[in-house]
Amino acid sequence: MQKTLGIHHISAMVNDAQRTINFYSGLLGLRLIKKTVNFDRPEVYHLYFGNETGQPGTVITFFPWEKQLKGRIGTGQVGVTSYMISKETIKFWEDRLQKFDIEFTSSIRFGERYVQFKDPDGLEIELVERDEGPINSWSFGEISSDYGIKGFSGATLISTQPHKTADVLEMLLGFECLGQEEGFLRFTSKAQVGNTIDIKLTPSVRGLMGAGTVHHIAWRAKDEEDLFKWRSLLQDKGYYPTEILDRNYFKALYFHEPGGILFEIATDPPGFVVDEPMNTLGEKLMLPSWLETKRKELEETLPPIKVHRRKEINNETHI
Ligand code: ZN
Repeated sequence: MQKTLGIHHISAMVNDAQRTINFYSGLLGLRLIKKTVNFDRPEVYHLYFGNETGQPGTVITFFPWEKQLKGRIGTGQVGVTSYMISKETIKFWEDRLQKFDIEFTSSIRFGERYVQFKDPDGLEIELVERDEGPINSWSFGEISSDYGIKGFSGATLISTQPHKTADVLEMLLGFECLGQEEGFLRFTSKAQVGNTIDIKLTPSVRGLMGAGTVHHIAWRAKDEEDLFKWRSLLQDKGYYPTEILDRNYFKALYFHEPGGILFEIATDPPGFVVDEPMNTLGEKLMLPSWLETKRKELEETLPPIKVHRRKEINNETHI
C-alpha cells in the first residue's frame, strides 16, 4: 500500500511579512530557509521556515499579504500546527513566551505535555515535549540547539466530516489510527517528525479562508515516481488531483479531501539547496527561472524585509 511518511509542509496566510519573520524566526528560533514569491501570484512573498536544512516535516510557509481579509479558523482547515521540543524544555519555552508577552495555556493530550499560543495573525500553534525527532542544529539567540524546535510533531485537522477525513488518513494516506481521547482521534506515520495527526471530533464553526488561517497541508512523497503513483491512486479512488506542478523545491499535486481541507502531496527532493548554498539559505530573494526577467520589478514592489542573523541579536525582546 502507498504510505506517506507524514507532513511535508504546512502553508498559511498572514498579513505582514516582517512580523511573521520576527515571530517564527526571532521568537520561535526557526530558520528562514527560503525567501521567494508565490509562483501563482509573484507580487506576494512566499516565506519558508524550518530547521537548519529545511527537512520535510519541519517546514511552515507563509503568503504574507497586507490586503488579505482576516479568516476564521474552523471546519475545512488545519486548526493547529504542533511543534516538537525535547523533554524537560517546556519551562524554557513558557518563560520565553512570557518574556515576549505571548499568552499561553498548558494542557495534556494523549499523555503528552502541550503549551498552546497564537501567532500575531491568530494562527494556533502548540509545542509538545517528545523524545523522538532529530535535534535541530540551528540555534538562535538564547535558543541553543538543545532547546530548539525539532520540527512538526503534527497538526490538528478540523473537518466538516471528521470520520471521512479519518478514512482518508487511514485508507488512502496510510496513517495508523492510535485511538480516541477527549474529542480527538489520533493518527501516526513512520517519520521522525511531522508524524502525528489529530482530528477534532467536537463541533467547530465553519472555517473562512483568510489571514490567520492555514491554506493547506502537504504530505510527503518519496520522489516524482512516487508522486505519479499517488496521482493514479487518487484518480482510481475518485478524487480530482491537479496536474503535477513544479514548485522548484519539490513537485506537488493538490486535492480536496471530503472534509473540505486542501491536501497537497509533495516530493522530498530536490529540497531547498537546489538554488542557493546551505550557509546563506533565505538571505536572497530567490525566483524560479520563469520569473527572473521580472526580478527588478518584483524587488521594487515587494515590501523590504529584514532577516535576523544569529550574531545580530542583542536585545531579543525588541526583535
Ligand atoms: Zn504547499
